[in-house]
Amino acid sequence: MLDDFKTEQPIIYKVLSNSINKDKISHAYLLEFNGYQKGFDFAIAMAKALLCPYKYKNNSLCKNCSQCHAIDNDNFIELKIIEADGQWIKKEQLEELQREFSKKALIGNRKIYIIKDAEKLNIASSNSILKFLEEPSEGIIAILTTKNIYQVLETIKSRCQLLSLKPYIENLNADTKTILANLTFNNKEETNAFLADLGADDKIKMVIDYVNFLEKNKFKTIIYKNKNFIEMFNDKKQLEMAFNWLILYYKDILNYKLKHKLYYFVEEKNNIDALSTKLSLTKICQKIEILVELSTKIKFNINNNMLMDKLVIKLGEE
Ligand SMILES: [Zn+2]
Repeated sequence: MLDDFKTEQPIIYKVLSNSINKDKISHAYLLEFNGYQKGFDFAIAMAKALLCPYKYKNNSLCKNCSQCHAIDNDNFIELKIIEADGQWIKKEQLEELQREFSKKALIGNRKIYIIKDAEKLNIASSNSILKFLEEPSEGIIAILTTKNIYQVLETIKSRCQLLSLKPYIENLNADTKTILANLTFNNKEETNAFLADLGADDKIKMVIDYVNFLEKNKFKTIIYKNKNFIEMFNDKKQLEMAFNWLILYYKDILNYKLKHKLYYFVEEKNNIDALSTKLSLTKICQKIEILVELSTKIKFNINNNMLMDKLVIKLGEE
């Protein structure tokens, strides 16, 4: 229920709780996931809190409420979920929804529909719902969700109250989170030297080129790149540094995906843009974890060739 999101989504939680308590509800919301993995669960929790006659946001308080119970069991008639039938959400689906929603609610006084992946509303289907979205009958609430706000049609966006969930990285395990948090250079000079060298240093260039090649050509990297890479970073200390940079590069891809500022590889924006579009949030996190794990093996004198082959195989997996 909504209370479950109190710590992970404090701002939206507060906004929604206030408006539910004060009965100041919009008739249409657009919920932007922003990479938050439990976005759809949030949409359901939101619907539940809006439909619960006691405005409960917490399961333990709401044991006796038949509405919340029915929603949990997917059989509450006043809540309807629409999702794409194939590539798009079809006009017919929305026409049927409007027919169903022309009757008053049988239970309670609200009816809610959730449109999953609102970016899948094309011009034809969105036209069929614009008026319904803008001027619904009393008690009807729309919750549209999207993983990609930029693909949602302007006509839809402009008719909804936007709720933007906060990106929250739940995929990373605690160790990796700590490593990522501490992953900086030993001192300010080292950081500045790194940033100053970004365009000029052949070693940094090689790391960038390595990742770009690997993400495109997968296992071919073993044949075309590993030899040079190992020659360039030819001792333990060098290799540790290279791994540090590899992790930083993926960290910037992660930053970009989460719409944060690029921290290290600002000059590589185009490549990072392409990679962050191609890779899912989960995948980027997995790759960082793989790199962190492999980098800890360097100090145990593992054979460099084996280590780099392993890296390609693990990072190259689909
Ligand atoms: Zn309830």
